[in-house]
Amino acid sequence: MYGSTYRCEICGEESDNPQHWIVIHCCEARLIIYKWTEEAANAKGARHYCGERHAQVYIGRWLDAACC
Ligand SMILES: [Zn+2]
Repeated sequence: MYGSTYRCEICGEESDNPQHWIVIHCCEARLIIYKWTEEAANAKGARHYCGERHAQVYIGRWLDAACC
């Protein structure tokens, strides 16, 4: 999906070249963190974050209350 635009879930920043972004896949029992890859970013249910700080915001929320 070359040319896709991704949006950070926390701050709303958008990028079509999110090289240093972070992808998270999670379900109720498990959260998986990926360095940015097209494959991880385009997976069903993937969440996108503009950097470590915003990924951590989501991880904190997830630890407080299971997502999905
Ligand atoms: Zn952000």
